Amino acid sequence: MIDRHVIVIGAGMGGLAAAARLAAAGCRVTVLEAQPTLGGKLRQIQVAGRLIDSGPTVLTMAWVFEELFQSCGTSLAAELSLIPLATLARHVWPDGTRFDLFADPARTQDEIGRIFGAREARGYQSFRARARRIYETLEAPFIRAPLPTPLGLVRRAGVLPISRIAPFTSYWRALGAHFKDPRLRQLFARYATYCGANPFTAPATLMLVAHVESQGVWVVQGGMHKLAESVARAAEAQGATIRTQCRVREILTAGGRATGVRLDSGQVIPAHAIILNADCASLTAGLFGQAPAKAIRVPRARSLSALTLSLVATASEFPLLRHNVIFSPDYKQEFQQIEQNRLPDHPTLYLCAQDRTDLPIAPAPESLFCILNAPATGAASQPDPAAIDAAVSAMHAQLRQTGIHLRCVASQTTTPAMFHHLFPASSGALYGPANNGPYASFHRPGARTRIPNLYLAGGTIHPGPGLPMAALSGRMAALSLLQDGASTRQSPSMATAGGMRTG
Ligand SMILES: Cc1cc2nc3c(=O)[nH]c(=O)nc-3n(C[C@H](O)[C@H](O)[C@H](O)COP(=O)(O)OP(=O)(O)OC[C@H]3O[C@@H](n4cnc5c(N)ncnc54)[C@H](O)[C@@H]3O)c2cc1C
Repeated sequence: MIDRHVIVIGAGMGGLAAAARLAAAGCRVTVLEAQPTLGGKLRQIQVAGRLIDSGPTVLTMAWVFEELFQSCGTSLAAELSLIPLATLARHVWPDGTRFDLFADPARTQDEIGRIFGAREARGYQSFRARARRIYETLEAPFIRAPLPTPLGLVRRAGVLPISRIAPFTSYWRALGAHFKDPRLRQLFARYATYCGANPFTAPATLMLVAHVESQGVWVVQGGMHKLAESVARAAEAQGATIRTQCRVREILTAGGRATGVRLDSGQVIPAHAIILNADCASLTAGLFGQAPAKAIRVPRARSLSALTLSLVATASEFPLLRHNVIFSPDYKQEFQQIEQNRLPDHPTLYLCAQDRTDLPIAPAPESLFCILNAPATGAASQPDPAAIDAAVSAMHAQLRQTGIHLRCVASQTTTPAMFHHLFPASSGALYGPANNGPYASFHRPGARTRIPNLYLAGGTIHPGPGLPMAALSGRMAALSLLQDGASTRQSPSMATAGGMRTG
């Protein structure tokens, strides 16, 4: 593919990762981003003169980024300063129970024993082992591989290991085998929401998220957005060009192949291949033209959206750590209301105190980011402003009941409708198609499409949502493109250029 021009539409993590790898492999790469800033959902919002991380806050699977930087001839340590957290998160329930989950599993087990009793501590041990087995079963044949069919997965991994990943058992039900205490069941069920799934209908397979988190959570010094900046820098160092405020209006095709793009400005840019990093639903919705709309099929059901608040505030009394979760009194009701396309009356709140690490010490005022799960109803401009105001008031009341008193200097709210506007055709869903039911993960599109030379990358396709998965999807898009080019036009050695491995 040397001297061939690749256009990447979107500078989200999947797009940037693909661009960096392809540039490192010798392709001429142009990234076209509609927004004025890079990173997509990995975004910052300015509130009272401060930049607040208002997208991802939990960095896991640092090895994915190590591999990415190495493919560009640099390293994670050279590009970013990461601080590992000793306390993964502080959790609080309405009954006043406070529980910290530690990076050290022995410490967590002791803490579970102390607060919830010996039986629950044993349950944690068995849960950890099961989550690890699921992850290990899926890492090579699913997470790091092109999208397999259910049968293909069984062929690669074997029948017995696949039966261990429990796709036909709901996550919530499976947790009952490990935890009798409803608070711990609620705590570990929350990992399903990292993929935008409902823990009551998601497959138990999503336990793998708990394993991923137990392998380490890092704080990016200077803010999460530095991750997007550093991947963009690595891509540019390899020769990629990144243009912001450049919306692509159409993907052009000729003879059934993708041949270039047309920008909002009318400019036509020809390309030998195109990688689309926008929400995959934007393709089928026809936002890039009618011909490419048939390139893939996308399930209709959408993952969770969110109502988020980016705040500068003084937080008093409660000893917040970096990551804090304030649980709702009734988890089932919370998700029933979301299924009914309503904001929950009593939501679980995630509060990121961004100036803190493992100690409850922060400047006053400090930078905070709060997330409430919400239905993906952004396309219908729902929930309406009155419902949003009510939810924000309820959130503050819930925080006060927990002893978290916020004196706000300024705040900015992002609603499902705003997410829909930022990520067109998404309905505000933050994680692409819903991950509910045993086959949902197999119905996501993969890197290749039905249109030759058109590929996909990002958190809305295989292997799934989240920064590391989006980066892995970028790797898969780059690899597929190089392999296809290699098989028809170029030397096969190109597929391994720039650190691209097929494993
Ligand atoms: C509130 C929130 C919290 C999250 N928390 C975490 C977390 O803690 N940890 C974690 O790992 N993940 C988290 N995630 C998920 C993670 O942010 C996403 O999975 C990941 O960033 C998605 O990357 P992507 O490659 O799909 O690109 P996206 O971020 O979706 O970006 C796509 C880009 O394409 C651009 N684009 C779209 N259409 C066009 C067009 N026509 N022309 C040009 N450009 C276009 C968009 O402007 C955008 O920049 C969170 C997400 C949100 C929103």
